[in-house]
Amino acid sequence: MSLTIGVDIGGTKIAGGIVDVRGAILARSRQETERDPREVVATIVAVVRDLVSVAARDGLGDVEAVGLGAPGFVDETRQVVRFAPNIDWAEEPLAVAVSAACGLPTIVENDANAAAWGEFRFGAGRAAHDLVAVTVGTGIGGGIVLGDRLVRGAYGMAAEFGHLVRVPDGRLCGCGKRGCWEQYASGNALLRKARELAAERRNEAHTLLDLGDGTPEGVTGQHITVAAREGDPVALEAFSRIGRWLGTGLADVAALLDPAVFVIGGGCPRPATCCSRRRARPSRHRWWRPATVRTPRWSRRSSATTPASWARPTSPARTAERWSPGRTHLATLRHHRSRRVTDPVRPARRRCPGRSNG
Ligand SMILES: [Zn+2]
Repeated sequence: MSLTIGVDIGGTKIAGGIVDVRGAILARSRQETERDPREVVATIVAVVRDLVSVAARDGLGDVEAVGLGAPGFVDETRQVVRFAPNIDWAEEPLAVAVSAACGLPTIVENDANAAAWGEFRFGAGRAAHDLVAVTVGTGIGGGIVLGDRLVRGAYGMAAEFGHLVRVPDGRLCGCGKRGCWEQYASGNALLRKARELAAERRNEAHTLLDLGDGTPEGVTGQHITVAAREGDPVALEAFSRIGRWLGTGLADVAALLDPAVFVIGGGCPRPATCCSRRRARPSRHRWWRPATVRTPRWSRRSSATTPASWARPTSPARTAERWSPGRTHLATLRHHRSRRVTDPVRPARRRCPGRSNG
């Protein structure tokens, strides 16, 4: 059986999996790592070698390629990580190093792009041609698939949604700009807002405060989730406000890209549910077709499976040198167009008689 290995690269752990052509995970391997850049590469190699030996030992099939999901900017050849702030990589020839050490064709892709591709191929967006994945965690990341192609931009930095400026001269962001979306709609923003509200309305925040040490500073993200489930009005309002920021930001993304599906996931608890569909609609005009909002179906099963889907060659004979995004995407395009694609949630597009350039 044709197999690929996907590896999710985190700052403190490396998680890998063997994935078959249908996206099923046949084996997993996970190792802790130090933040030292050389140590991270050595751990990735160890995880890949471990999985290759598992595939051989258990007779699972032939591993054809390795896909790496990296939390950073990746060059257009998908061989070099240009910059990864959490691992201190700069112009790191990661795929080359892993390929040389493991003897397998290897590519690296930004982890959010890989997740979007996984949802497009196998997950919540498999019936769509145009999909936007938004990852809401400590910040906001994402990936864009338009016309069955992953949109990477000229420098591999497309879909950095978290740094869309929503509030001119707003809160200072880690990227150096002010008013970025992730300062208002991420997990960190939820925590900040909950603490603010708890400080202002201590009398209403008993449930939330009692989960910690009784102070607003002692509130954690987990506390907010638990308190909201128990009906704490302050926790619920914190979710509501972050959901509004999330929804209005998605409306801007929808106005720009017009995706059929938003896939909203990440570490922030149930972001898709705190973002109401009504607010994700950019207009109430009857002709506007709102995007469907979904939670991830595929990538949440294993973070390692998404880069595996990206690594999969469309032909067993394909080597890393011959891989090109165009070939991969063309094959996927043919695959999708050969199917009868129907989306019962999505009504037919209506023409807008009054739509103008203004
Ligand atoms: Zn920013």
